[in-house]
Amino acid sequence: MKNNNWGRYTQCTHSGEIKDTQFGGAVSPIYMATSYPYMEVETKRYPRYFNTPNQEAVGKKIAALEHAEIAMPFASGMAAISTALFAFLSAGDHVVVQNEIYGGTFNLIVEEFEKMGIDYSFTKSLAPADFEKEIRKTTKLIYLETPSNPLLSITDIKGVVDVAKRHHILTAIDNTFASPINQTPIDLGVDIVIHSATKYLGGHSDISAGTVASTAEIMEKIWHKSKNLGGNLSDFMCYLLERSIKTLGVRVDRHNQNAQAMAEFLLAHPSVAKVYYPGLPSHPNHALAKAQMHGFGGMLSFEFNAEVDVIKFQNKLALIKPSMSLAGVESTMLLPSKTSHSLLTAEQRTAIGVTDNLLRFSVGIEDVKDLQHDIEQAL
Ligand SMILES: *Cc1c(COP(=O)(O)O)cnc(C)c1O
Repeated sequence: MKNNNWGRYTQCTHSGEIKDTQFGGAVSPIYMATSYPYMEVETKRYPRYFNTPNQEAVGKKIAALEHAEIAMPFASGMAAISTALFAFLSAGDHVVVQNEIYGGTFNLIVEEFEKMGIDYSFTKSLAPADFEKEIRKTTKLIYLETPSNPLLSITDIKGVVDVAKRHHILTAIDNTFASPINQTPIDLGVDIVIHSATKYLGGHSDISAGTVASTAEIMEKIWHKSKNLGGNLSDFMCYLLERSIKTLGVRVDRHNQNAQAMAEFLLAHPSVAKVYYPGLPSHPNHALAKAQMHGFGGMLSFEFNAEVDVIKFQNKLALIKPSMSLAGVESTMLLPSKTSHSLLTAEQRTAIGVTDNLLRFSVGIEDVKDLQHDIEQAL
């Protein structure tokens, strides 16, 4: 499909769609077959080969949005992350990993890598120089994630890419928090872009999926690994994901606007001690975020003053759901101290800025006045 010149919203709506040549229907048909011909065909199709019509369709849409040659849909963000990492890391190899990363990725590394003979180092900070310090002769990959969870820290993508290129090392990024609408890391030189599509790409809190996007050469290696690991996404879920991404542009624009408004509201609120949002000029990396992102995203976190009981506050919320996941059209909040960071002691948490009064706020697409009212009435 000739779509190289399409704008973001057109790509969201149309890139990759399957023409219904049988009936002329307006949307991609769903092809549920697990069995396809093998004789005299160019492509031997099979769900675990990641090449059914619906897998290819949603892959093309994601590739267009990420400015990648090829993209593949996986059954979860972790299936995408583990497959991409294992495609390039084996016994004796070393990977440099950003210190602030998603809890599931951290667990994958510390629980599985040693058994497989893969070495890893976490950086001391997000500074590109600290990535460089961890590089060894055996380093094959640098792994980053920005904005990070839950403090919305910003890594200098171009700075880390420059370090990696100097040492001829591949880079992979978890682009989940930004979404391809707010950040296109391939334009900054990153090799592999990964998403938990369970978040903004799905966007309605009803799809578990992941995606990987890169060059044809790199995706060939990831595809070979993926056939062995088997984390393919079902055709029905591919269809739902394709449908969801049609509204990604308009959803993320609204998430951006709402989060900015809520960040400013919380910053001015007498009961709030701190607000972490890259769109606020007070964020330490506001200028960097402005330079490398197209929008600041729908995620923020904030800390109440000590006198607010954060458990009671959450129980009093009527509209904003206390909820584990993030990036849906509905607003949700959670306490990192009780979830992602519950295994640390209160002192360890305070040392990294995740205090027991810190709330992560996934700002939805509702009316800002209703979200503000909900917070006021709960207080
Ligand atoms: C949720 C999430 C993941 C993991 O994705 P799953 O779909 O839950 O497997 C990875 N990275 C980030 C930043 C996430 O928010």
